[in-house]
Amino acid sequence: MSQPIKIGIVGVGKIVRDQHLPALAKDQNYRLVAAASRHGKVENIPNFPDIEAMLDAVPELEAVSLCMPPQFRYDAARTALMAKKHVFLEKPPGATVSEVEDLKALAAQNGVSLFASWHSRYAPAVEAARAFLNSTKIRSAAINWKEDVRRWHPNQEWIWAPGGFGVFDPGINALSIATHILPPMLITSAVLDFPENRASPVAARVIFRTSNGLPVTMDLDWLQTGPQSWDILADTDKGAMVLSGGGSKLAIDGKVIHEEPEAEYPMLYRRFAEIVRARTSDVDLAPLQHVADAFMLGKRNVVEAFFD
Ligand code: NAP
Repeated sequence: MSQPIKIGIVGVGKIVRDQHLPALAKDQNYRLVAAASRHGKVENIPNFPDIEAMLDAVPELEAVSLCMPPQFRYDAARTALMAKKHVFLEKPPGATVSEVEDLKALAAQNGVSLFASWHSRYAPAVEAARAFLNSTKIRSAAINWKEDVRRWHPNQEWIWAPGGFGVFDPGINALSIATHILPPMLITSAVLDFPENRASPVAARVIFRTSNGLPVTMDLDWLQTGPQSWDILADTDKGAMVLSGGGSKLAIDGKVIHEEPEAEYPMLYRRFAEIVRARTSDVDLAPLQHVADAFMLGKRNVVEAFFD
């Protein structure tokens, strides 16, 4: 086994505590050597207020994971790439498409790896759904992503700010799966519901067609209480496919054919180690491009104010 990659983590918040720290602790490909965050701290390693201070103080760092909100990721990524560190970007990889294009070029120029991570793509039944859809003729598909923002994103102001994506923050997870399992898609129309006191949408209805003319609908709702739905459905020649639970369970005509516990972040870190060792990058912009297109083409609908 090669030497562990010395990694630092930036932006210590919910996802770092829930997923990055446990995944890194179990992965022998890495040694977590430092963290940088304005308030958050990781125990038992040196902590710094920002990435610049961390890079100065810990020159042996080889890679960084950038887990702050997307609006603040580009500058940190640029700093890390210029310092020739490999970069793992949380999803969404940036606040704009052009930012991430720029980072891709910078990674290549500096001879380091850039990973635009899409955790939902690593959900356990996604590959089985992709294989199923590749084996049949699809007639139509529907994405239903409905969750309760108060439950999953309490007090996260950045998510409602410009560049925070609103309901497209979870919606881009659906798109990261859809763009992996369905034929290439184009948006034909969209309606985005903006609460009158917020800069980002709380719901959206988007219509796509695939390059071969199939209709795909996407229904995003952030006010869903009770059961939550993170489902992609497809009507096919071999039956009705339902990929549910955010990609964790696959059923055809009601019969479950794949279900296992999720291990998205361990798999993301395994993939990152693979590209670091191979000195390549893995940056698929398709999910981010669709979100940008929905904001560009979508009709803006003003709805009731939202309060936490
Ligand atoms: P979060 O709890 O708000 O944590 C993000 C951290 O980034 C903050 O705690 C903050 O720590 C730091 N930060 C740096 N600059 C900031 C700024 N200007 N404004 C606000 N925070 C700033 O958010 P999160 O849920 O971990 O999400 C972070 C990223 O991970 C997002 O892109 C999100 O889409 C993605 N993600 C989240 C989840 C989830 O379930 N929450 C799941 C998958 C992916 P300091 O105050 O210490 O600097």
